Amino acid sequence: MAQQDDVFKKIVSHAKEYGFVFQSSEIYDGLSAVYDYGQNGVELKNNIKRYWWDAMTLLHENIVGIDSAIFMHPTIWKASGHVDAFNDPLIDNRDSKKRYRADVLIEEDIAKLDDKIEKEVAKARKRFGDSFDEALFRQTNPRIADIAKEREELHERFSQAMNDNNLEELRQIIVDRQIVCPVSGTKNWTEVRQFNLMFRTEMGSTAEGAMNVYLRPETAQGIFVNFLNVQKTGRMRIPFGIAQIGKAFRNEIVARQFIFRMREFEQMEMQFFVRPGSELEWFRQWKEARLRWHKALGMGDDKYRYHDHEKLAHYANAATDIEFRMPFGFKEVEGIHSRTNFDLSQHEKFSGKKIQYFDPELNESYTPYVIETSIGVDRMFLSVLCSSYEEQQLDGGDKRVVLHLPAPLAPVKCAVMPLVKKDGLPEKAREIVSDLKFDFATHYDEKDSIGKRYRRQDAIGTPFCITVDHQTLEDNTVTLRERDSMEQTRVNIADLHRLIHDRVSINSLLRKLS
Ligand code: ATP
Repeated sequence: MAQQDDVFKKIVSHAKEYGFVFQSSEIYDGLSAVYDYGQNGVELKNNIKRYWWDAMTLLHENIVGIDSAIFMHPTIWKASGHVDAFNDPLIDNRDSKKRYRADVLIEEDIAKLDDKIEKEVAKARKRFGDSFDEALFRQTNPRIADIAKEREELHERFSQAMNDNNLEELRQIIVDRQIVCPVSGTKNWTEVRQFNLMFRTEMGSTAEGAMNVYLRPETAQGIFVNFLNVQKTGRMRIPFGIAQIGKAFRNEIVARQFIFRMREFEQMEMQFFVRPGSELEWFRQWKEARLRWHKALGMGDDKYRYHDHEKLAHYANAATDIEFRMPFGFKEVEGIHSRTNFDLSQHEKFSGKKIQYFDPELNESYTPYVIETSIGVDRMFLSVLCSSYEEQQLDGGDKRVVLHLPAPLAPVKCAVMPLVKKDGLPEKAREIVSDLKFDFATHYDEKDSIGKRYRRQDAIGTPFCITVDHQTLEDNTVTLRERDSMEQTRVNIADLHRLIHDRVSINSLLRKLS
């Protein structure tokens, strides 16, 4: 674990050193859980958004996008339940004065039991070698059975307490499990309290005229309240979806793990409206489609898993998370929820406006059911960064840090370098840049040795380096160096466009999906 923490620290400082992510307001000592994206970060982020947006709107003729405002009528948050129920159970440690989410402390304790089981399995695998029957071992080993039983009982008790909103019981679980504060190491806990996560501000100039408004904690409600606008003006027929990318704000208590949990973050959400009764089939389809989208990036199928929810929100009849293996364990990156007709019905009730769909095939009106896919751009960014980072030992004792970013997401697609800064090589290199820049984010670099320049590009994940040398002037060929294999091939300048395009276009990812 300590080793994993180390890797994560390195990734965080790499993200800063190479212009991916900066602490917000850094020269004023920072603002907790708020981050800025630098020159490379913004490109990577934009590419993630483009991949998502195109996968939704280009590949599905029945999905359209919107961009709704961050400020919305405050009654929307009454209707959605956020005013009354968007609460986290908090607990403070009296010695360290640190505040924690009680549910997160308990979930981490459950995860420890899971780890224990995996350790037992790993130990046995080592001991038995090739003859190891893992399934049988998991079923029959008494030690595993004991841990699994303990886990089950704890999980059951925790789910019950969360379902009943029983704050005393949550505290009692923390006490009974002897959970300690990671900072002070003590069990000196306060009571558990509820805390609303929405940021509130005032709209309007005078004290009497001002209205309390919230910064939206999710983008989804902007879609629900525009359901009829889009359906009518776009002449949409069910089933259809509305997609949106935008900022969301949550006054998170536990602000740890870099950009994993932020107070200002970005979501990519799609609400898919379907006939009542068909929602579980659509849920299944979207669950699979979304995992395919992730896997198409080629970061390794074993890094993903589903986490189906046993405890469902009151409005949902199915829910799952897609989790990604971060250096600090498997963590939620995306949620897929079958939200029934809860949101549209609530808005109908609170606004007094009829929000129904007339289905011409059935010849009847109904409130559509909704499948939601909701993914955090920043968490996706973090998963891409973590899985791409590698410190590589090279032959000859050299070392390099390389980001194996999926090529279509890389901030810079190719860097063009004259071998030396004379003899007309810079001019030739500039000519190549002038041609490629219309299609690819292209860097020109003539400073330092060629080796150092390669390292700089490796560190930001540039898939291709193009080197112009004296031979180029004679026969119009260059060396094309590939980031991961470091292989260099001599290619014709005329072929560059095609060779690069095949690897780096978002198009190539989208084709894997359809
Ligand atoms: P968590 O349990 O981690 O707090 P959540 O279940 O509340 O997350 P949702 O409300 O389902 O999250 O939001 C959908 C997605 O938005 C999440 O899968 C995550 O990627 C992203 N997200 C939610 N909260 C944050 C945050 N504070 N910072 C960054 N991304 C977030």
